Amino acid sequence: MLEKKMKIVIAGGGTAGWIAAAALSNQMGGILDITLVESQEIGTIGVGEATIPPMRTFHRLIGIDEQEFMRATNATFKLGIQFENWKQIGEKYFHSFGITGKQTLITDFIHFWLRGRELGIASEFGDYCLEFKAALMDRFSLTENAKINYAFHLDAGRYANFLRQRAESRGVKRVEGKIAEVQQNPNSGFISLLKTESGEEIPGDLFLDCTGMRGLLIEQCLKTGFEEWGHWLPCDSAIALQTESIAPAVPYTKSIAHHAGWRWQIPLQHRVGNGLVFSSKYMSKDEALNMLLSSVDGKVLTEPNVIKFKTGRRKKSWNKNCIAVGLASGFLEPLESTSIHMIMTAITRLLLLFPHGEIKQSTIDEYNIQAESEYVKIRDFIILHYKATERSDSLFWQYCKDMEVPDELMHRMTLFKEAGKSFQVEGELFRLDSWTQVMLGQGIMPSTYHPIVGLMPAPDLKRFLSNIAADVDKNISMMSLHQDFVTTYCGKM
Ligand SMILES: Cc1cc2nc3c(=O)[nH]c(=O)nc-3n(C[C@H](O)[C@H](O)[C@H](O)COP(=O)(O)OP(=O)(O)OC[C@H]3O[C@@H](n4cnc5c(N)ncnc54)[C@H](O)[C@@H]3O)c2cc1C
Repeated sequence: MLEKKMKIVIAGGGTAGWIAAAALSNQMGGILDITLVESQEIGTIGVGEATIPPMRTFHRLIGIDEQEFMRATNATFKLGIQFENWKQIGEKYFHSFGITGKQTLITDFIHFWLRGRELGIASEFGDYCLEFKAALMDRFSLTENAKINYAFHLDAGRYANFLRQRAESRGVKRVEGKIAEVQQNPNSGFISLLKTESGEEIPGDLFLDCTGMRGLLIEQCLKTGFEEWGHWLPCDSAIALQTESIAPAVPYTKSIAHHAGWRWQIPLQHRVGNGLVFSSKYMSKDEALNMLLSSVDGKVLTEPNVIKFKTGRRKKSWNKNCIAVGLASGFLEPLESTSIHMIMTAITRLLLLFPHGEIKQSTIDEYNIQAESEYVKIRDFIILHYKATERSDSLFWQYCKDMEVPDELMHRMTLFKEAGKSFQVEGELFRLDSWTQVMLGQGIMPSTYHPIVGLMPAPDLKRFLSNIAADVDKNISMMSLHQDFVTTYCGKM
């Protein structure tokens, strides 16, 4: 006999809701009955356009064709983020998605580079990384010879529509309407149904709260609680707007620090996404808006979208029969473009832990342990950008420089400074290369290197370093201009 299909109700149809719907229907559609409720009147947050490379793996998992997706979302390629004014006003560095140098069995590449620098035979750290140099030279290609690690810049609204079409074609039902009531079972406290303003009732076994920062189910109904991290990440506001493109799209996001936060530029095929993130304690909304408007190039296409946010996480991502996904589960500012990724890992985690029949507490606990660990590690990586600065030109930067940071982060910074070591722990998103690039870029220079690299004679080290740099240059010489590649690969036909 066929088992009864489990009823999944997704509340909210932003990026989180439609990623959840598309993935669950693709992977488990045959045994799930999925309904998504959203309100056009409330709308979505309307931002979230820079991504990181694991998105490609997730897309493969749910069968998304890259060219079709890029055409549908007017996407461009992203090889990393250029940070300007973060270490010091006027200075730039790059966090690329690539591996710098070569993996060796002896020790990390940075130690060879540090020794080379001491001997005067090494050039800039980024010269040994394909993604870094390709980005700065505005190049991109997909070839078998030179594997490049990349992500995308995409139009958030189009992305949700693209996923919606896929989800609906796999049987997801969409209900238009405002959720007015969340009913609970009086004994278990589990959510039993959602009721819309028009009186429609949507019962379910498992509810995904994708209602954005308001957390309609996880917080307003279940009172799960929120752990705030504003003392480490003092920005609490953003203004976003879109402008016309006036130049070919570059294959990287720009993050430019200002006296009380930073602003972003995300180039798409048809327009540029711009935004300014700031701490309302150190900058007024009017000042932020003026700064943003005076810094954008190209005609402004949209009204400024002002967003207030609270940095932190829901104390439990999964509570009873409700899982918060996306902004409903918490928020980390978009400095390293991690939010869409965290939606994808949340859904992957759910797929891996999917309950068979009754929802067991051990499953909930395991999900929450993994979710918390992911949040905390990404949080620390983002705090690093603020803490490790040489800026003291404003009260905001003085606060960041002087603030106490989590012990684990302090340990990482000290270890890098004293021994040139960075690391990636099990299940952590950011790789050693990411930690190394950002720590160097923010001005933490190791005071020493691994003694073993001293065993390599200087001429050999010189050859080792220059061969890597020459390989990078050779590969770049065979690449197309990014804009040309995008036009051929996924431009409008
Ligand atoms: C300033 C800023 C910049 C960002 N930039 C990036 C970035 O570059 N990269 C990145 O990965 N992430 C970024 N993010 C995060 C990203 O925008 C979100 O993770 C992503 O959009 C998911 O949002 P969501 O779907 O959780 O919420 P929302 O987009 O807010 O969607 C909520 C949904 O719930 C529905 N809803 C709410 N209440 C009700 C109700 N009562 N009844 C019915 N429906 C309801 C709404 O209609 C909507 O469909 C950024 C966030 C901010 C604030």
